[in-house]
Amino acid sequence: MFQVELVCSDPRCDAEVTQWIEQLDEVAAVACECGHGLVTVRIEGFEPVLAPV
Ligand SMILES: [Zn+2]
Repeated sequence: MFQVELVCSDPRCDAEVTQWIEQLDEVAAVACECGHGLVTVRIEGFEPVLAPV
């Protein structure tokens, strides 16, 4: 499971959504109530893919 924080892509809309999803590609299917898409701002709950330099 991934915890994903999303904000609306419309700057006039201040919607913020936190969702729990099974697969990261489910994020693309999420839309704001206002009709705009949601933009991912933070993803937690998974192991980092890139090792720290
Ligand atoms: Zn919105």
